[in-house]
Amino acid sequence: MAKLARSPWVVHYNCNSCNGCDIEFLACLTPMYDAERFGVLHVGNPKHADVLVVTGSVNHRNARVLRNVYDQMPDPKVVVALGVCTSSGGIFAGCYNVFGGVEKVLPVDVFVPGCPPRPEAILDGIVKAAARLGAKIRGETPPPVEKPKAAFQPAAVPEEKK
Ligand code: SF4
Repeated sequence: MAKLARSPWVVHYNCNSCNGCDIEFLACLTPMYDAERFGVLHVGNPKHADVLVVTGSVNHRNARVLRNVYDQMPDPKVVVALGVCTSSGGIFAGCYNVFGGVEKVLPVDVFVPGCPPRPEAILDGIVKAAARLGAKIRGETPPPVEKPKAAFQPAAVPEEKK
């Protein structure tokens, strides 16, 4: 069982991202960053995945699809929130249809801050996710995660412009 944690299979879901985070995630899979050296395999079927990587701002339209992807993954599983849009809504925070954080829809194991995060940070997040997956496989409860301080919160609208 422990081998699973050392070879996490990763599925990726784009929740309305600008594609910046997605391109950086894909860069991790190239020989330049070589995520496969950590045993990472990118899969297209959530039923085969241990790790769900989420990008973009979760909103009322895509939350149900995201939850559906998550529910299809076998237990134990872990979630990586990639980029500031996923953790807070980013530049879309405060929009009428944006939840303001993926943790309102799914339990998150690792937040990777940045807009977009660099591939090195993404690999670090996936390695941390694999460690949490290992803990879950052993029946342990990983410690709670701290959400990064949100960036790109919309500025308050001055009274005279309301
Ligand atoms: S965090 Fe930045 S790069 Fe990533 S989806 Fe949001 S705007 Fe795009």
